[in-house]
Amino acid sequence: MVIVMAPTCTAADIDTIADAAIEAGCEVSVSRGESRTIIGLTGDVAQFTTLDLRGMPGVADVVRVTAPYRLVSRDHHLRRSTVSVAGVPIGPGTVTLIAGPCAVETPDQTLQAARMAAAAGATLLRGGAYKPRTSPYAFQGLGEAGLRILADVREQTGLPVVTEVVDASDVALVASYADMLQVGTRNAQNFALLQAVGAAGKPVMLKRGMNATIEEWLMAAEYIAQRGNLDVVLCERGIRTFETATRNTLDVSAVPLAQRLSHLPVIVDPSHSGGHRDLVLPLTRAAIAAGADGVIIDVHPRPDQALCDGPQALVDGDLDELARVMRVFPPLVGRSRARGPIAFGELVTLEDGRVGSGIR
Ligand code: PEP
Ligand code: MN
Repeated sequence: MVIVMAPTCTAADIDTIADAAIEAGCEVSVSRGESRTIIGLTGDVAQFTTLDLRGMPGVADVVRVTAPYRLVSRDHHLRRSTVSVAGVPIGPGTVTLIAGPCAVETPDQTLQAARMAAAAGATLLRGGAYKPRTSPYAFQGLGEAGLRILADVREQTGLPVVTEVVDASDVALVASYADMLQVGTRNAQNFALLQAVGAAGKPVMLKRGMNATIEEWLMAAEYIAQRGNLDVVLCERGIRTFETATRNTLDVSAVPLAQRLSHLPVIVDPSHSGGHRDLVLPLTRAAIAAGADGVIIDVHPRPDQALCDGPQALVDGDLDELARVMRVFPPLVGRSRARGPIAFGELVTLEDGRVGSGIR
């Protein structure tokens, strides 16, 4: 950290800052120039945080030269991490497809959506049993009954389950069913929840807050890591901008940026960013081209009857193209499609009797 002193600062101002920094455990070096004095501090993020440097007399500017998110930063962890979700890798070298319904509605709908996901090459199943809805009148999810459906469908398809937890008091229950806990955009700065999932002993997918800077997103991940859980996957899901033609604006640049700043895997949610099924495949291609470590996609057997986010769900007719994208695009960027515990080549029977294209 570098403190730039104002030209008008006094020797006493410099001494006060140096003494406070030494007291906090930092190493201090003072460089006196012709017109400016700068004070360099080396030490730990936690030590800097205790100092209110900007408020001290004589300080013109404080410039941070190291990331404030120590555990998830790439500064001390040059190799990018792979997170294993019940044996399915998410990380460099592979592209992982997570797919399933936005919300768990019925056993039949969830099983059909899981079969659609598997037919497209997904190795993880998504599905919300707890839904954070903007309207209190909208479907809030089935709760624990939904978790039981997910566990049954996992049993039948072999797909490990990614599901959202919206409240710190539900973390233990959701973790007892889920293979990966999802923290949604609306909870991305719910620090009590972040700490609770950090202590839950399960991998976490952390969506970017819809109005969060990349630094705020990484600081949220730091809350999870700080509780001892480094199995965190970051998910770019679109941010709020002036544009209303899409549900959110997919910030593709966040993918390489977050990967440069953090060792954590970064995936993209093209469904919740585009908000319409026509946009999902183009945004999936963009995500893989930008280097995403995976994508999470909504699919639904009957989107016109969906209780949540029907317009963005892919339908049966989209699955062949999604499978093709997952087969063709990863090799173009030097990756393979991530496989899971389900054997490659295993055929998947869809509800209508059709057999999945065998692309697994
Ligand atoms: C979801 O994935 O179901 C969801 C609610 O997403 P987001 O938090 O990104 O809106
Ligand atoms: Mn949704």
